[in-house]
Amino acid sequence: MKCLIIGSGPAGYTAAIYAARANMNPVLYEGLQPGGQLTVTTEVENFPGYPEGVDPYTLMDDLRRQAERFGTEVRTGVVTKVDFSVSPKLVWIDDAAEPIEADAVIIATGASAKWLGIKSENDYRGMGVSACATCDGFFYRGKVTAVVGGGDTACEEATYLAGLCSKVYMIVRKPYLRASEIMQQRVLNNPKIEVLFEHNTIQLTGEGRVQGADLVYKKDTPEEEMRHIDIDGFFLAIGHRPNSKVFSDYVALDEEGYIRTIPGTPRVLKKDSEEVLEGVFAAGDVADPHYRQAVVAAGTGCQAAIEADRYIKSL
Ligand code: NDP
Repeated sequence: MKCLIIGSGPAGYTAAIYAARANMNPVLYEGLQPGGQLTVTTEVENFPGYPEGVDPYTLMDDLRRQAERFGTEVRTGVVTKVDFSVSPKLVWIDDAAEPIEADAVIIATGASAKWLGIKSENDYRGMGVSACATCDGFFYRGKVTAVVGGGDTACEEATYLAGLCSKVYMIVRKPYLRASEIMQQRVLNNPKIEVLFEHNTIQLTGEGRVQGADLVYKKDTPEEEMRHIDIDGFFLAIGHRPNSKVFSDYVALDEEGYIRTIPGTPRVLKKDSEEVLEGVFAAGDVADPHYRQAVVAAGTGCQAAIEADRYIKSL
């Protein structure tokens, strides 16, 4: 096949729309979470073109139908192995014996938010628990929220929420923040943000949706103490994990695991090299540690398809 797209978030589907309209007859594989990260939010209000907002399933369904309308074939399966050292590229799905051969491969496998691993965080998912303040913060205007984490993302999310909420707690497991100095100052000087250092979350409480959190202060020390805070929303900001592992023998990754590209382009760098890996392109959150927004992912999906088209025509 000419063009294989891996991933079914906004990056993958936008790449598919462009690739299909360029007669590349793309095949798109959706993985275990069709629609990607967006589908864990409740409503999308910041994707252009939806003045009333849109529920994420409708948005993904719209993108999928638009991709299929021009001839994209959508299949279900998980990439379990690749060989990018040859041309065409080889990709194995669900441990199949035979690989798929593709002239161009667009990687749009996204990133997954890290979760704490406590049971109640799953129980209240979408009911007061979120991993994206930019996406869901608006629903907590005038309310009390908590952000978990002490890195740049947590500081950014807490500062963003402080612009909307009446109060924001930051739950930080260490006695200090890990974020850059400027972000720390922004948090520490914000009267709406209260940083709870050396606190860990034990469980979330509430009838049907989050209304509070049980915390432990100075866990496993003589000063250990249980505390409870009343909150309406609980935001995880303990980092993201890009879904790049299966490609790691061939593509360059940064220290966080994000795929390295030529800046401003979807052209992927070879592992341990500053050279371009021809025929392989990355779009969306798997290559974006900074913005992680659906509309940015869609934009880079478009770029990847245009570059894939140029590459295929050069063969
Ligand atoms: P980080 O890995 O930098 O920070 C994660 C935070 O979450 C740390 O405070 C960590 O605590 C905490 N944490 C991790 N696991 C748990 C857990 N199980 N329970 C409680 N707390 C936990 O991730 P970020 O997403 O903040 O940042 C990722 C990268 O992106 C960084 O390099 C960052 O600088 C960059 N970034 C830059 C921005 C900017 O420049 N504007 C904005 C956002 C991100 P601990 O310190 O104890 O490990």
